[in-house]
Amino acid sequence: MINQNKEPKITLLGAGPGDPDLLTLKGVKALQTADVVLYDALTNEALLEHAPTASIKVYVGKRSGEHSYPQDTINKLMIDYALNYGHVVRLKGGDPFVFGRGYEELDYAASYSIPVSVIPGISSSIGVPGLQQIPVTHRGMSESFWVITGTTTSGDVSNDIYQAAQSNATVVVLMGLKKLAKIVEIFKAAGKGSLPTAVVQNGSADDEKMVIGVVETIEILTAQEHIKAPALLIFGEVVSLHPSFKTLVKQYASIS
Ligand code: SAH
Repeated sequence: MINQNKEPKITLLGAGPGDPDLLTLKGVKALQTADVVLYDALTNEALLEHAPTASIKVYVGKRSGEHSYPQDTINKLMIDYALNYGHVVRLKGGDPFVFGRGYEELDYAASYSIPVSVIPGISSSIGVPGLQQIPVTHRGMSESFWVITGTTTSGDVSNDIYQAAQSNATVVVLMGLKKLAKIVEIFKAAGKGSLPTAVVQNGSADDEKMVIGVVETIEILTAQEHIKAPALLIFGEVVSLHPSFKTLVKQYASIS
């Protein structure tokens, strides 16, 4: 018990897609009053500099395929630290509630009557396309957007992808890189072989990379450029608004 006088509290904080400057001002203020920061793999460690030097920083990252910290361990750590040290900032990639398991943490803290506040972050699902100047909606072109997981708890692609592929919506798939072949197959079966498509690796970070093409060419491009996780997939006419789309598509047409 280091800070016995401190009231336990938890802040679920969205770190944004990677660039540390994409954290909100409210997020900076929360970090400045942190006693403990629990941070994930997809959060930039530069953000820890906002926290007091004396604060405790704990990495609880999970990388794809590796489960170093199961969710219930993270939940318990969060509670232990809050009870023993006071203010725990739970720093999560993007927005805490977009495939971030944020509500599970909120719910667990509530069961201990520890107050939780939420500070939204820029979700990669909107921010990463936006940084590439690809709007998720555009008047006259896309009236809605879907953000879907490529990998559900059962390991399969989400059933929603089948429905989304039939629609005119912009479809952003997170955690879908390993399932690209299957997802491409779904779009092709829906008659969308020539739909503009992009894959963005680590948007807003130094190793950001993007490939852009159509459903039929995207797998080969992704392999050629050695695109790695974290990456997201964007399907939709809005991808054609990217300045390089026209040139690139012509090039692929001449190769094939
Ligand atoms: N809560 C996060 C998403 C967590 S799921 C958010 O709102 O952004 C993790 C997945 O998000 C990754 O597998 C990847 O598909 C996507 N992702 C997160 N950050 C990304 C980034 N900087 N660039 C591309 N994709 C990213």
